[in-house]
Amino acid sequence: MNTETQQTAVAIVGAGVSGLIAARDLQRQGIEVLVLEAADRVGGRTLAETSALGSRLDLGGQWIGQGHHRFEQLVDQLGATRFQMHTPKAPAIFDGPQTVSPNSLPLLTATGALAAAELLSRLPVRGRWNTATVQSWLRRVPSDRARRLLGALVETTSCAGPEQLSVQAFLELVRYQGGLQTMMKTSGGAQDSLVLEGAGTLAERLAAGLGTRVRTSCRVTAIRQTADGVVLDTSAAAVAAQRAIVSVPPPMTTSITFEPPLPPERITLQRNMFMGTVYKAVAVYETPFWRARGDAECMLLGEPNVAVFDTSPPAGPGHLCMLVGGPQARALDDLDTDGRRAVLLRQLAPHLGDAVERPASWHEKAWHLDVFAGGGYTALPAPGTSEGFYPMASMPTGRIHWAGTETATEHAGYIEGAIEAGNRAAREVAKTITHGSQTKAH
Ligand SMILES: Cc1cc2nc3c(=O)[nH]c(=O)nc-3n(C[C@H](O)[C@H](O)[C@H](O)COP(=O)(O)OP(=O)(O)OC[C@H]3O[C@@H](n4cnc5c(N)ncnc54)[C@H](O)[C@@H]3O)c2cc1C
Repeated sequence: MNTETQQTAVAIVGAGVSGLIAARDLQRQGIEVLVLEAADRVGGRTLAETSALGSRLDLGGQWIGQGHHRFEQLVDQLGATRFQMHTPKAPAIFDGPQTVSPNSLPLLTATGALAAAELLSRLPVRGRWNTATVQSWLRRVPSDRARRLLGALVETTSCAGPEQLSVQAFLELVRYQGGLQTMMKTSGGAQDSLVLEGAGTLAERLAAGLGTRVRTSCRVTAIRQTADGVVLDTSAAAVAAQRAIVSVPPPMTTSITFEPPLPPERITLQRNMFMGTVYKAVAVYETPFWRARGDAECMLLGEPNVAVFDTSPPAGPGHLCMLVGGPQARALDDLDTDGRRAVLLRQLAPHLGDAVERPASWHEKAWHLDVFAGGGYTALPAPGTSEGFYPMASMPTGRIHWAGTETATEHAGYIEGAIEAGNRAAREVAKTITHGSQTKAH
């Protein structure tokens, strides 16, 4: 192991989209960077795989939401291809083998409760519910099926169980993300379009552009600020730089020692936030055969609740994307891969046909088991706390600058937010790098 301290102008912690964008922006200005990534791959909460049929798919972040212009531009700049999601008029709701009619009382009740949440999210009264959990709110809903549907929607949109989220945190999230409609909708909403090569490919291409300036399997364990710079201890060699950008979400920075210690408000932020829990799977078929019978997009109430999307590329093959959020995702950890595939696809068979149980390939990832990502989609505030509501403070701490999607002012939690935060951190740092003393990129 090389134990010599390496020098660079800017050390960037984390090679997710945010860290890589910050690195790219700085390198474009001739400022030398070194990106230090704990995992043995780049991409963080994005990860693309190739199916048995040769198509690309995403196990992490994938959708380009409406208005995510930076994300769109990045796809185009990196020579990747965007395509519109296959979207039905309205997603189906299934309760086990039964179809829940849009005019049924439970669905009307759930719709009423969602409309109330939407309205409350726009009123200044939401601070009153900082300690009440979404679970306590759901208990008042007078229908078991409506309660289960609402619980499933909360789990899928936030990746937290209703008992893990305060009503205020949920309403803040809804308000910030532009309303429940926007959060849940495919066409015109947060799940509008996809990247043919996989959104995870973007991080790979960004890293390729940075070449040897990205170090994987290099975990940062400590950041020490000195009179004229920062020194980062890592699992490989130490790195000395003028500035550091940390693109790791707040709950994951607790594993880094800071000297001097971080200010109290930053420590509170780290302690009062937690990473969401989410399992994602993609099943791949020769064709999207279910379309002959109907659309696949649905919310399945069962054991577990599953949000299902038809993410098939326009020229095929068929891709079914499944998301399980909150504690039910953790329950899947007790099964092996075959068991999880059987449990999820068996629930879909009555609605999409038996062929759904025979995919050409199966791809899955439990993000809460990823020790470096920590979970997903994003970091969330614990009930009773008010730290971590979006937009989150990103004031530099001396020579340490904060990036990562959680610090974005727009679309925090999404890839769009990761790009915005990376751009902003690079701008902040570029202003501070003294001309003449800056190390040129090579
Ligand atoms: C299942 C899932 C589905 C999602 N779906 C969507 C979607 O459809 N659309 C969308 O826009 N967004 C989606 N997201 C969210 C999106 O993926 C994230 O907002 C985005 O990727 C975050 O990027 P980031 O660079 O801010 O953070 P990260 O990607 O988390 O990057 C942080 C990096 O820091 C590394 N790291 C951690 N600790 C250390 C350390 N001590 N030293 C060095 N490195 C360290 C991590 O390994 C990681 O690579 C989804 C996320 C998940 C998990």
